[in-house]
Amino acid sequence: MLKRRQFICSSLLLLGPSLHAQDNPGTTELCDLLIIGAGAAGLFAAISAKEAGLKRVILIEKFPSPFFSSTAYSAGSVNASGTISQIQHGVIDTEGLREFEMEIFREGNFKNDKHLVANYVKNASSTLDWLSEKGVELTPAENFAFRLKRMHGCDRGTGSRYVEVLFSEVVRLGVETWFQTKAQKILTDGSNSVLGAKVTRNHKTVNILAKNGVILCTGGFAGDVNRIDKDIPSFAGAPTFSSPSSLGEGLDMACAIGASTHFIPYAGAYAYGVPLDDETRRGLIFRGHVMNLFGSITLNRLGKRFTNDDQNSTKVAQLLARNKEKTVFQLATHTQLQEFLKNDPIQVIGWDRSKFLQEMEDGNYFISKTNSLEEVATLMKVPVIPFIEEIERYNGMVRSGKDTDFGRKHLKGLFNEGPFYLFKGTPVVGITIGGLKVNERLQVVNEYGDPIKNFFAAGEVVGGLHGTSYIGGTSLAGALTLGRLAGKIASEKPNS
Ligand SMILES: Cc1cc2nc3c(=O)[nH]c(=O)nc-3n(C[C@H](O)[C@H](O)[C@H](O)COP(=O)(O)OP(=O)(O)OC[C@H]3O[C@@H](n4cnc5c(N)ncnc54)[C@H](O)[C@@H]3O)c2cc1C
Repeated sequence: MLKRRQFICSSLLLLGPSLHAQDNPGTTELCDLLIIGAGAAGLFAAISAKEAGLKRVILIEKFPSPFFSSTAYSAGSVNASGTISQIQHGVIDTEGLREFEMEIFREGNFKNDKHLVANYVKNASSTLDWLSEKGVELTPAENFAFRLKRMHGCDRGTGSRYVEVLFSEVVRLGVETWFQTKAQKILTDGSNSVLGAKVTRNHKTVNILAKNGVILCTGGFAGDVNRIDKDIPSFAGAPTFSSPSSLGEGLDMACAIGASTHFIPYAGAYAYGVPLDDETRRGLIFRGHVMNLFGSITLNRLGKRFTNDDQNSTKVAQLLARNKEKTVFQLATHTQLQEFLKNDPIQVIGWDRSKFLQEMEDGNYFISKTNSLEEVATLMKVPVIPFIEEIERYNGMVRSGKDTDFGRKHLKGLFNEGPFYLFKGTPVVGITIGGLKVNERLQVVNEYGDPIKNFFAAGEVVGGLHGTSYIGGTSLAGALTLGRLAGKIASEKPNS
């Protein structure tokens, strides 16, 4: 193992032209491990590095607190198989890892990175159990992707609950947190080894050199609509529901030192989005995919069913994108909507219940309440008779219990009597599923497939876990689980 003094000397020698005093004025700080980004991945990486015995762990974050991260904005759904919470809620899933793994591959169109999925599947339940032990109440819930209840909702229905718990542990363990500190550049020895990062703190440059290297946990890039237009062309022009923190700077810094990326043109998109403002292109997610579990149907702008209503929302969004459609409708009866309200604490991510109830009455954004199917057809601007025939045909399938067109499983309730609720949506993007390529030790690899020494990444900045489609609950759980693992691996003997 390199001794601390040896490390400083050799690092300063190796910095070479890339850290010349004129280019990089500022002070130098030395630590054992530098983690960039205080979301789920970064906070958990810092915790496991301290648990593994590293002394000086620095966690930097560009915002004034960890509550601006995508993690904090999220709905808090997390997927795992074999958790204590499942046992407590009577979900028998103690032998489910292989099936869980296959379900993830199936949803990702079998394109997923095998070793990332394996690392995630193996370590997700212990990660969620850790959170349960810290007092987070997790409740197993249905998700189209899984045969069993492998998605878990958290007690407050928001990822800020995890941030709260993780951050208090970070403080308790003595991680040094530097807020309002932005990483500008990854520092290398001029070849294939990372030494640290150049950061800006209080308008001053600090070069942080880290013995065990750097873990990049800077999240995705869906907060930058120009970047969506450029890099995710099938959703060009779509509104974003992302956090303001997700601008892709980490990805750019890694690429600048030769890191390799994959799956960049794919996104976690939601079919049933609510556009808020054309200028800023901000939008929100309506959990219409969850409402469909209670019987509501998905229609295209011609008033026709066009796909299986009970499937992952990203798949529906991708189908709309493929058909060059930007508008989608959903129709629910009063009973179906009440069941959704009773069973799901969240309707629109970011709105509380009262705001949604208000929208049901006012219809300012995306909901119209009507008394008849004729009125629905008029609102959708489709001919009345064919529309009613379409709904009658669907009612026939509900009566027979079989969807002969698209094979949906949840056939619940007839569209006979008003009031009916019509939801008008548009696909929204807010999560990126493409990003850096890492190996089985979560080391970032370069364009030749070789690991970049002392450079690790976890969370949304990494691509491959999801393949080409996104399952709600895997991004956040992936960031928590693989962030935790990256902290552990990076704490092992340096230069291994
Ligand atoms: C509204 C919404 C709802 C979602 N709901 C779910 C859900 O229910 N389930 C699910 O699985 N996923 C969900 N997601 C996705 C999920 O939240 C993220 O994929 C996951 O939290 C990413 O975690 P992370 O730690 O990789 O990144 P983040 O949580 O994005 O954290 C990255 C941090 O890095 C910081 N950073 C970036 N660049 C720099 C820099 N240059 N220097 C210093 N700091 C920097 C950022 O400010 C940020 O705090 C949702 C996302 C959104 C936006």
